[in-house]
Amino acid sequence: MVKIQYKACKKCQFLTEEDVCPKCSGDTSREWQGYVYIVDYTVSSIAKSMGIESNGRYALKVR
Ligand SMILES: [Zn+2]
Repeated sequence: MVKIQYKACKKCQFLTEEDVCPKCSGDTSREWQGYVYIVDYTVSSIAKSMGIESNGRYALKVR
């Protein structure tokens, strides 16, 4: 059984399987908690409050 271990970008909190964030080239961390899935950032109040400007999965808390 393969479990994908997502990592969160320390800069923009984007969740990815890569070691480097595909969106902002920032470092990623395995130490994160919770996530939100932004379907349409233009209408999402969560995206607005977090400063998210694209769709996808984002960690709520990155250490
Ligand atoms: Zn990033």
